[in-house]
Amino acid sequence: MSTKKLNIPGYEEVIYARDDDSGLRAIIAIHDTTLGPAVGGTRMLPYGDDLEALADALRLSRAMTYKAAAAGLDFGGGKAVIIGDPEKNKSEKLLRAFGRLVESMGGRFLTGEDVGTSSEDMRIVNKETEYTIIPPKSMEEEWQSSFLTALGVVRGIQASVKEVYGSDSLAGIRIAIQGIGKVGERLARMLHAEGARLIITDLDQGRLSGLMELGATAVMPHEIYRIDAEVFSPCALGGILNDEVIPFLRCRIVAGAANNQLAEDRHAVQLWKRGILYAPDYVINAGGLISALYEMGRCDRETVIRMAEKIYDRLRSIYDISRSEGISTLAAADRMVEERIRQGRSTLP
Ligand code: NAD
Repeated sequence: MSTKKLNIPGYEEVIYARDDDSGLRAIIAIHDTTLGPAVGGTRMLPYGDDLEALADALRLSRAMTYKAAAAGLDFGGGKAVIIGDPEKNKSEKLLRAFGRLVESMGGRFLTGEDVGTSSEDMRIVNKETEYTIIPPKSMEEEWQSSFLTALGVVRGIQASVKEVYGSDSLAGIRIAIQGIGKVGERLARMLHAEGARLIITDLDQGRLSGLMELGATAVMPHEIYRIDAEVFSPCALGGILNDEVIPFLRCRIVAGAANNQLAEDRHAVQLWKRGILYAPDYVINAGGLISALYEMGRCDRETVIRMAEKIYDRLRSIYDISRSEGISTLAAADRMVEERIRQGRSTLP
Protein backbone atom coordinates (compact mmCIF):
# COMPACT_ATOMS: atom_id res chain seq x y z
CA MET A 1 0.00 0.00 0.00
CA SER A 2 1.33 3.45 -0.82
CA THR A 3 0.42 6.39 1.37
CA LYS A 4 0.98 10.08 0.92
CA LYS A 5 0.64 12.78 3.57
CA LEU A 6 -1.16 15.86 2.31
CA ASN A 7 -0.31 19.15 3.93
CA ILE A 8 -3.65 20.89 4.51
CA PRO A 9 -3.61 24.03 6.69
CA GLY A 10 -5.88 23.71 9.74
CA TYR A 11 -5.78 19.90 9.70
CA GLU A 12 -3.47 17.79 11.83
CA GLU A 13 -3.04 14.94 9.42
CA VAL A 14 -4.49 13.99 6.06
CA ILE A 15 -3.47 10.75 4.39
CA TYR A 16 -4.18 9.53 0.90
CA ALA A 17 -3.75 5.78 0.51
CA ARG A 18 -3.75 3.51 -2.49
CA ASP A 19 -3.51 -0.25 -2.58
CA ASP A 20 -3.52 -1.69 -6.11
CA ASP A 21 -3.84 -5.28 -4.89
CA SER A 22 -7.25 -4.71 -3.25
CA GLY A 23 -8.32 -1.67 -5.29
CA LEU A 24 -8.47 0.52 -2.17
CA ARG A 25 -8.32 4.26 -2.64
CA ALA A 26 -9.00 6.11 0.60
CA ILE A 27 -8.45 9.34 2.45
CA ILE A 28 -8.30 9.68 6.22
CA ALA A 29 -8.55 13.25 7.50
CA ILE A 30 -7.78 14.04 11.12
CA HIS A 31 -8.91 17.56 11.86
CA ASP A 32 -8.07 18.02 15.53
CA THR A 33 -7.13 15.71 18.41
CA THR A 34 -6.75 18.32 21.15
CA LEU A 35 -9.51 16.76 23.23
CA GLY A 36 -8.80 13.12 22.38
CA PRO A 37 -8.48 10.65 19.50
CA ALA A 38 -10.35 11.63 16.36
CA VAL A 39 -13.65 9.82 15.78
CA GLY A 40 -15.52 9.72 12.51
CA GLY A 41 -17.30 7.29 10.25
CA THR A 42 -16.00 5.65 7.12
CA ARG A 43 -17.93 6.71 4.05
CA MET A 44 -17.77 4.77 0.78
CA LEU A 45 -19.05 6.60 -2.28
CA PRO A 46 -18.33 6.69 -6.02
CA TYR A 47 -16.87 10.20 -5.87
CA GLY A 48 -16.36 11.93 -9.21
CA ASP A 49 -12.64 12.35 -8.48
CA ASP A 50 -10.10 12.39 -5.66
CA LEU A 51 -10.54 16.12 -5.04
CA GLU A 52 -14.25 15.69 -4.41
CA ALA A 53 -13.48 12.91 -1.94
CA LEU A 54 -10.87 15.06 -0.23
CA ALA A 55 -13.32 17.97 0.12
CA ASP A 56 -15.87 15.64 1.75
CA ALA A 57 -13.30 14.20 4.17
CA LEU A 58 -12.09 17.68 5.16
CA ARG A 59 -15.59 19.10 5.66
CA LEU A 60 -16.88 16.12 7.62
CA SER A 61 -13.80 15.71 9.83
CA ARG A 62 -13.96 19.35 10.90
CA ALA A 63 -17.67 18.95 11.65
CA MET A 64 -16.83 15.95 13.86
CA THR A 65 -14.41 18.05 15.92
CA TYR A 66 -17.19 20.53 16.63
CA LYS A 67 -19.78 17.86 17.31
CA ALA A 68 -17.59 15.94 19.77
CA ALA A 69 -16.53 19.09 21.59
CA ALA A 70 -20.11 20.35 21.79
CA ALA A 71 -21.23 17.02 23.24
CA GLY A 72 -18.66 17.36 26.02
CA LEU A 73 -16.77 14.30 24.77
CA ASP A 74 -13.03 13.84 24.97
CA PHE A 75 -12.73 13.11 21.28
CA GLY A 76 -11.44 14.99 18.30
CA GLY A 77 -12.75 14.96 14.76
CA GLY A 78 -11.82 12.78 11.82
CA LYS A 79 -13.36 11.10 8.80
CA ALA A 80 -12.42 8.41 6.32
CA VAL A 81 -13.65 8.19 2.78
CA ILE A 82 -13.21 5.20 0.51
CA ILE A 83 -13.47 6.12 -3.15
CA GLY A 84 -15.61 3.53 -4.92
CA ASP A 85 -19.07 2.16 -5.47
CA PRO A 86 -20.11 0.22 -2.35
CA GLU A 87 -22.29 -2.04 -4.51
CA LYS A 88 -19.55 -2.95 -6.96
CA ASN A 89 -16.13 -2.31 -5.44
CA LYS A 90 -16.47 -3.43 -1.84
CA SER A 91 -14.69 -6.67 -0.95
CA GLU A 92 -13.19 -8.33 2.12
CA LYS A 93 -9.73 -7.67 0.66
CA LEU A 94 -10.46 -3.95 0.29
CA LEU A 95 -11.97 -3.62 3.76
CA ARG A 96 -9.03 -5.44 5.34
CA ALA A 97 -6.58 -3.19 3.50
CA PHE A 98 -8.52 -0.23 4.86
CA GLY A 99 -8.31 -1.80 8.34
CA ARG A 100 -4.51 -1.92 8.04
CA LEU A 101 -4.52 1.75 7.08
CA VAL A 102 -6.57 2.62 10.20
CA GLU A 103 -4.22 0.46 12.30
CA SER A 104 -1.22 2.36 10.93
CA MET A 105 -2.60 5.55 12.53
CA GLY A 106 -1.88 3.98 15.92
CA GLY A 107 -5.21 4.84 17.57
CA ARG A 108 -5.30 8.51 16.59
CA PHE A 109 -8.41 7.71 14.52
CA LEU A 110 -11.41 5.58 15.57
CA THR A 111 -14.01 4.73 12.96
CA GLY A 112 -17.41 3.17 12.45
CA GLU A 113 -20.07 2.74 9.80
CA ASP A 114 -21.34 5.64 7.71
CA VAL A 115 -22.97 6.16 4.32
CA GLY A 116 -22.00 3.21 2.10
CA THR A 117 -20.61 1.04 4.91
CA SER A 118 -22.32 -1.17 7.48
CA SER A 119 -21.52 -2.61 10.88
CA GLU A 120 -20.85 -5.91 9.08
CA ASP A 121 -18.20 -4.13 6.98
CA MET A 122 -16.73 -2.70 10.17
CA ARG A 123 -16.46 -6.20 11.62
CA ILE A 124 -14.21 -7.08 8.66
CA VAL A 125 -12.17 -3.88 9.18
CA ASN A 126 -11.90 -4.93 12.82
CA LYS A 127 -10.00 -8.09 11.81
CA GLU A 128 -7.06 -5.79 11.05
CA THR A 129 -7.47 -3.09 13.67
CA GLU A 130 -8.97 -2.62 17.10
CA TYR A 131 -9.69 1.04 16.36
CA THR A 132 -13.27 0.48 15.25
CA ILE A 133 -16.60 1.47 16.76
CA ILE A 134 -19.09 -1.34 16.25
CA PRO A 135 -22.36 -1.88 18.09
CA PRO A 136 -22.26 -5.27 19.83
CA LYS A 137 -24.44 -7.77 18.00
CA SER A 138 -26.35 -8.28 21.21
CA MET A 139 -27.32 -4.61 21.43
CA GLU A 140 -31.06 -4.38 21.71
CA GLU A 141 -33.03 -2.43 19.15
CA GLU A 142 -33.75 0.47 21.52
CA TRP A 143 -30.02 0.99 22.02
CA GLN A 144 -29.12 1.73 18.46
CA SER A 145 -27.71 5.17 17.90
CA SER A 146 -31.02 6.48 16.55
CA PHE A 147 -32.52 6.10 20.03
CA LEU A 148 -30.06 8.47 21.71
CA THR A 149 -30.17 10.78 18.69
CA ALA A 150 -33.95 11.05 18.99
CA LEU A 151 -33.75 11.50 22.76
CA GLY A 152 -31.25 14.34 22.35
CA VAL A 153 -33.48 15.98 19.74
CA VAL A 154 -36.50 15.83 22.08
CA ARG A 155 -34.47 17.55 24.82
CA GLY A 156 -33.21 20.07 22.27
CA ILE A 157 -36.75 20.84 21.13
CA GLN A 158 -37.77 21.32 24.78
CA ALA A 159 -34.89 23.77 25.36
CA SER A 160 -35.86 25.66 22.20
CA VAL A 161 -39.55 25.81 23.12
CA LYS A 162 -38.53 27.13 26.55
CA GLU A 163 -36.46 29.86 24.90
CA VAL A 164 -39.29 31.00 22.65
CA TYR A 165 -42.41 30.35 24.72
CA GLY A 166 -41.08 30.43 28.30
CA SER A 167 -42.07 26.87 29.22
CA ASP A 168 -40.55 23.63 28.02
CA SER A 169 -43.81 21.71 27.99
CA LEU A 170 -44.54 20.22 24.58
CA ALA A 171 -48.24 19.73 25.29
CA GLY A 172 -50.16 21.02 22.29
CA ILE A 173 -47.00 22.19 20.50
CA ARG A 174 -47.22 21.51 16.75
CA ILE A 175 -44.08 19.86 15.39
CA ALA A 176 -43.54 19.23 11.67
CA ILE A 177 -41.12 16.36 11.08
CA GLN A 178 -39.39 15.93 7.71
CA GLY A 179 -38.27 12.31 7.30
CA ILE A 180 -39.73 9.36 9.18
CA GLY A 181 -36.66 7.15 9.08
CA LYS A 182 -34.72 5.55 11.93
CA VAL A 183 -34.51 8.78 13.92
CA GLY A 184 -37.71 10.46 12.72
CA GLU A 185 -39.96 7.58 13.76
CA ARG A 186 -38.51 7.30 17.26
CA LEU A 187 -38.62 11.06 17.61
CA ALA A 188 -42.30 11.18 16.59
CA ARG A 189 -43.21 8.58 19.21
CA MET A 190 -41.27 10.36 21.96
CA LEU A 191 -42.78 13.75 21.06
CA HIS A 192 -46.26 12.25 21.01
CA ALA A 193 -45.65 10.90 24.52
CA GLU A 194 -44.85 14.48 25.58
CA GLY A 195 -48.19 15.69 24.23
CA ALA A 196 -46.99 17.28 20.98
CA ARG A 197 -49.17 17.40 17.85
CA LEU A 198 -47.39 15.90 14.86
CA ILE A 199 -47.30 16.81 11.19
CA ILE A 200 -45.18 14.32 9.25
CA THR A 201 -43.84 13.72 5.79
CA ASP A 202 -41.55 11.30 3.97
CA LEU A 203 -40.74 10.57 0.34
CA ASP A 204 -41.73 7.00 1.15
CA GLN A 205 -45.44 7.21 2.04
CA GLY A 206 -45.28 3.71 3.50
CA ARG A 207 -43.27 5.03 6.42
CA LEU A 208 -46.08 7.32 7.54
CA SER A 209 -48.85 4.79 8.05
CA GLY A 210 -47.35 3.42 11.30
CA LEU A 211 -47.68 6.84 12.91
CA MET A 212 -51.32 7.44 12.05
CA GLU A 213 -52.31 5.79 15.34
CA LEU A 214 -50.63 8.76 17.07
CA GLY A 215 -53.08 11.14 15.41
CA ALA A 216 -50.34 12.55 13.18
CA THR A 217 -51.27 14.58 10.10
CA ALA A 218 -49.45 13.48 6.94
CA VAL A 219 -48.51 16.06 4.30
CA MET A 220 -46.70 15.91 0.96
CA PRO A 221 -42.90 16.36 1.10
CA HIS A 222 -42.94 19.80 -0.56
CA GLU A 223 -45.59 21.09 1.88
CA ILE A 224 -43.58 20.56 5.06
CA TYR A 225 -41.64 23.84 4.82
CA ARG A 226 -44.78 25.98 4.80
CA ILE A 227 -46.61 24.23 7.61
CA ASP A 228 -47.98 26.50 10.30
CA ALA A 229 -46.32 24.86 13.31
CA GLU A 230 -44.23 26.02 16.24
CA VAL A 231 -41.37 23.68 15.38
CA PHE A 232 -39.92 22.38 12.11
CA SER A 233 -37.78 19.29 12.70
CA PRO A 234 -35.60 18.28 9.72
CA CYS A 235 -34.75 14.58 10.05
CA ALA A 236 -33.99 13.65 6.44
CA LEU A 237 -31.52 15.57 4.33
CA GLY A 238 -28.81 18.17 4.60
CA GLY A 239 -28.81 21.55 2.84
CA ILE A 240 -32.54 22.18 3.26
CA LEU A 241 -32.16 25.54 5.03
CA ASN A 242 -31.36 27.65 1.99
CA ASP A 243 -32.39 30.79 0.10
CA GLU A 244 -35.42 29.06 -1.43
CA VAL A 245 -36.85 27.66 1.81
CA ILE A 246 -36.06 30.15 4.59
CA PRO A 247 -38.30 33.00 3.37
CA PHE A 248 -41.34 30.68 3.43
CA LEU A 249 -40.86 29.02 6.82
CA ARG A 250 -43.77 29.71 9.17
CA CYS A 251 -42.28 28.06 12.25
CA ARG A 252 -40.61 29.80 15.20
CA ILE A 253 -38.06 27.03 15.79
CA VAL A 254 -35.94 24.74 13.60
CA ALA A 255 -34.68 21.79 15.63
CA GLY A 256 -34.00 18.39 14.11
CA ALA A 257 -31.59 15.50 13.66
CA ALA A 258 -30.39 15.93 10.08
CA ASN A 259 -26.70 16.66 9.55
CA ASN A 260 -25.58 19.81 7.70
CA GLN A 261 -29.04 21.40 7.63
CA LEU A 262 -27.73 24.80 6.58
CA ALA A 263 -26.84 25.10 2.90
CA GLU A 264 -24.24 27.68 4.01
CA ASP A 265 -23.30 29.13 7.40
CA ARG A 266 -24.80 32.50 6.38
CA HIS A 267 -28.24 30.89 6.45
CA ALA A 268 -27.97 30.75 10.25
CA VAL A 269 -27.89 34.55 10.19
CA GLN A 270 -30.83 34.64 7.79
CA LEU A 271 -32.89 32.51 10.19
CA TRP A 272 -31.84 34.62 13.16
CA LYS A 273 -32.86 37.81 11.36
CA ARG A 274 -36.24 36.28 10.59
CA GLY A 275 -36.70 35.58 14.32
CA ILE A 276 -36.55 31.82 13.84
CA LEU A 277 -34.61 30.02 16.56
CA TYR A 278 -32.21 27.52 14.98
CA ALA A 279 -30.83 24.70 17.15
CA PRO A 280 -27.39 24.10 15.60
CA ASP A 281 -27.52 20.61 14.10
CA TYR A 282 -24.18 19.44 15.41
CA VAL A 283 -25.27 20.25 18.97
CA ILE A 284 -28.80 18.84 18.92
CA ASN A 285 -28.00 15.62 17.01
CA ALA A 286 -24.97 14.59 19.07
CA GLY A 287 -26.82 11.65 20.67
CA GLY A 288 -25.61 9.39 17.86
CA LEU A 289 -22.01 10.17 18.66
CA ILE A 290 -22.59 9.88 22.41
CA SER A 291 -23.99 6.42 21.80
CA ALA A 292 -20.56 5.39 20.42
CA LEU A 293 -19.27 5.50 24.00
CA TYR A 294 -21.73 2.80 24.94
CA GLU A 295 -21.00 0.84 21.79
CA MET A 296 -17.28 0.90 22.64
CA GLY A 297 -18.03 -0.27 26.17
CA ARG A 298 -16.62 2.93 27.69
CA CYS A 299 -19.85 4.03 29.42
CA ASP A 300 -22.94 2.30 30.72
CA ARG A 301 -26.44 3.01 29.46
CA GLU A 302 -27.40 5.38 32.27
CA THR A 303 -24.33 7.53 31.64
CA VAL A 304 -24.92 7.91 27.90
CA ILE A 305 -28.59 8.73 28.52
CA ARG A 306 -27.54 11.45 30.99
CA MET A 307 -25.08 12.81 28.45
CA ALA A 308 -27.74 12.97 25.70
CA GLU A 309 -30.12 14.71 28.10
CA LYS A 310 -27.51 17.42 28.66
CA ILE A 311 -28.21 18.65 25.14
CA TYR A 312 -31.00 20.61 26.84
CA ASP A 313 -28.56 22.61 29.01
CA ARG A 314 -26.04 23.00 26.22
CA LEU A 315 -28.61 24.59 23.93
CA ARG A 316 -29.86 26.83 26.74
CA SER A 317 -26.28 28.12 27.17
CA ILE A 318 -25.96 28.68 23.42
CA TYR A 319 -29.23 30.62 23.34
CA ASP A 320 -28.00 32.74 26.27
CA ILE A 321 -24.82 33.62 24.36
CA SER A 322 -26.79 34.35 21.18
CA ARG A 323 -29.18 36.65 23.05
CA SER A 324 -26.61 38.51 25.09
CA GLU A 325 -24.04 38.90 22.32
CA GLY A 326 -26.50 39.57 19.52
CA ILE A 327 -25.11 36.79 17.31
CA SER A 328 -26.71 33.85 15.52
CA THR A 329 -27.12 30.60 17.42
CA LEU A 330 -24.59 28.95 15.09
CA ALA A 331 -22.01 31.64 15.86
CA ALA A 332 -22.75 31.19 19.57
CA ALA A 333 -22.31 27.40 19.34
CA ASP A 334 -19.07 27.74 17.38
CA ARG A 335 -17.78 30.18 19.98
CA MET A 336 -18.61 27.82 22.85
CA VAL A 337 -16.92 24.90 21.13
CA GLU A 338 -13.82 26.83 20.11
CA GLU A 339 -13.45 28.01 23.70
CA ARG A 340 -13.60 24.43 24.96
CA ILE A 341 -10.97 23.33 22.46
CA ARG A 342 -8.77 26.31 23.38
CA GLN A 343 -9.00 25.36 27.04
CA GLY A 344 -8.12 21.78 26.18
CA ARG A 345 -5.19 23.04 24.21
CA SER A 346 -3.95 25.21 27.08
CA THR A 347 -3.84 22.20 29.40
CA LEU A 348 -1.65 20.24 27.01
CA PRO A 349 2.04 20.06 27.90
P1 NAD B 1 -32.91 7.24 7.46
O1 NAD B 1 -32.31 7.00 6.14
O2 NAD B 1 -33.33 6.08 8.30
O3 NAD B 1 -34.21 8.18 7.32
C1 NAD B 1 -34.29 9.27 6.48
C2 NAD B 1 -35.73 9.37 5.99
O4 NAD B 1 -35.89 10.60 5.29
C3 NAD B 1 -36.11 8.25 5.03
O5 NAD B 1 -37.31 7.65 5.46
C4 NAD B 1 -36.28 8.98 3.68
O6 NAD B 1 -37.28 8.38 2.87
C5 NAD B 1 -36.69 10.36 4.14
N1 NAD B 1 -36.45 11.42 3.17
C6 NAD B 1 -35.38 11.59 2.35
N2 NAD B 1 -35.54 12.70 1.61
C7 NAD B 1 -36.71 13.26 1.97
C8 NAD B 1 -37.42 14.42 1.57
N3 NAD B 1 -36.96 15.25 0.63
N4 NAD B 1 -38.60 14.69 2.16
C9 NAD B 1 -39.11 13.87 3.10
N5 NAD B 1 -38.47 12.75 3.53
C10 NAD B 1 -37.28 12.45 2.96
O7 NAD B 1 -31.87 8.17 8.25
P2 NAD B 1 -31.79 8.43 9.84
O8 NAD B 1 -30.79 7.52 10.43
O9 NAD B 1 -33.16 8.51 10.40
O10 NAD B 1 -31.11 9.88 9.85
C11 NAD B 1 -31.85 11.03 9.51
C12 NAD B 1 -30.94 12.24 9.52
O11 NAD B 1 -30.36 12.39 10.82
C13 NAD B 1 -29.76 12.17 8.55
O12 NAD B 1 -29.46 13.45 8.09
C14 NAD B 1 -28.63 11.66 9.44
O13 NAD B 1 -27.37 12.07 8.92
C15 NAD B 1 -28.94 12.39 10.73
N6 NAD B 1 -28.39 11.74 11.92
C16 NAD B 1 -28.71 10.44 12.20
C17 NAD B 1 -28.18 9.84 13.34
C18 NAD B 1 -28.52 8.42 13.70
O14 NAD B 1 -28.25 8.03 14.83
N7 NAD B 1 -29.15 7.63 12.83
C19 NAD B 1 -27.33 10.57 14.19
C20 NAD B 1 -27.06 11.92 13.90
C21 NAD B 1 -27.61 12.49 12.75
